[in-house]
Amino acid sequence: MTDSPGALATGIAFSRAVLVGPPARWSYSTLEEASSCPLRYCLRRATYPDLGHQEGYPSVPSVPALFGNVVHGALEVVVKAMADAAVESPQAESAAEVIRDLGGFTSVVENELANQLASLKDNMRLSKDLHRRIAIDLEARVADARAQVQTYLSRTKFVSGPRHSTQAAEGGRSRAFVRQELGAGSHPEVELVAERERLYGRVDLLMISDDRVDIIDYKTGGESDGHADQLQLYAWLWGADEKVNPRGLGVASLTAAYRDQDVSIDVPNADQMAVLSLEFATKIADADGEIASGSPTARPSQENCRYCAVRHLCASYWATIAPKLSDINQGDLFDYEGVIGEQNGQRSWWLLNDAGRPELLLRTTTPAPPFASGDRVRLLGLRRGADPQTDWPIGSVTVATEAFRVESV
Ligand code: SF4
Repeated sequence: MTDSPGALATGIAFSRAVLVGPPARWSYSTLEEASSCPLRYCLRRATYPDLGHQEGYPSVPSVPALFGNVVHGALEVVVKAMADAAVESPQAESAAEVIRDLGGFTSVVENELANQLASLKDNMRLSKDLHRRIAIDLEARVADARAQVQTYLSRTKFVSGPRHSTQAAEGGRSRAFVRQELGAGSHPEVELVAERERLYGRVDLLMISDDRVDIIDYKTGGESDGHADQLQLYAWLWGADEKVNPRGLGVASLTAAYRDQDVSIDVPNADQMAVLSLEFATKIADADGEIASGSPTARPSQENCRYCAVRHLCASYWATIAPKLSDINQGDLFDYEGVIGEQNGQRSWWLLNDAGRPELLLRTTTPAPPFASGDRVRLLGLRRGADPQTDWPIGSVTVATEAFRVESV
């Protein structure tokens, strides 16, 4: 499953993509991504030799997504430490001891924030300025993240089981999950694998007491139908994983834990499990086929493309989804493809449409932008502006704007 399906010309300078083969195993999210748009799945995981052989195309992270990662990561550390210490309840004195040993909630959150910022360090799509702004935004929300972690934790119930070593590993995390039969107790970060079907999932918290099994997944974003599907996959994986669940115990409850409430998800019965099994097998066969073809299908739609990290590499997006200038309101961020025309001022350039006529005045933040007159460019994240001294629409470069030079393919 590792044969490379070949190279793909994206039409953007220095961005020839060398596609990678299908993965050894699929997860719920990778399979969903490959099903919703095979091209996006492939471009995000391809290697780009002209960009330094790095694996995958980096995304531009949003502050809300990073904030969610901080909360989830901090919660993971705390839940794991409490499960290792066989804490009976987050309100127990033993829970307070665990938090003290971790250095307090704020310290756990700050560590997670530092991890998230460190992961952005080599991201070629982030300027120093944008990196700094993201750091400032996240640091201003430490108290909020701490409060969220405490809220999730306050509703978490633990099942007592054997106590494990709580010696912290690097990054504040305690023991790693070992794939073996699970006994009674609370088990954080459980990896479930269906080897034959090539599917896996990682459950946030799995609790076993007597012959009852409960699965909880923490969700830091808004509610979504996909969360129910994901939890039902976990129930299916639990049934299929002969290593972790050799006795074939059934799942009693599935819970999606949101910030403000817990939502119970129906546990699939035997017939529904059989349907799920068939659905996943079909999706995997389709996704494998798309990847192995070497020319994965693009599925442009507003929903798919709006936040697509590789839309500048996707001809279908620019042909069908990228907005028309006439549809963009003042103050909105928008993407634009055009040709750089004459310089209009020290920090302004004309952008020409396909007929070679000016249609947008581009305002840059520097007199030496990364393009030259005659270049065809794709610009992501311009801000629509206006100037009382001209009737021309204005597109202003912001700290988050990216410019990519188009080459003929
Ligand atoms: S821009 Fe849309 S169609 Fe193109 S790869 Fe991204 S999601 Fe797929």
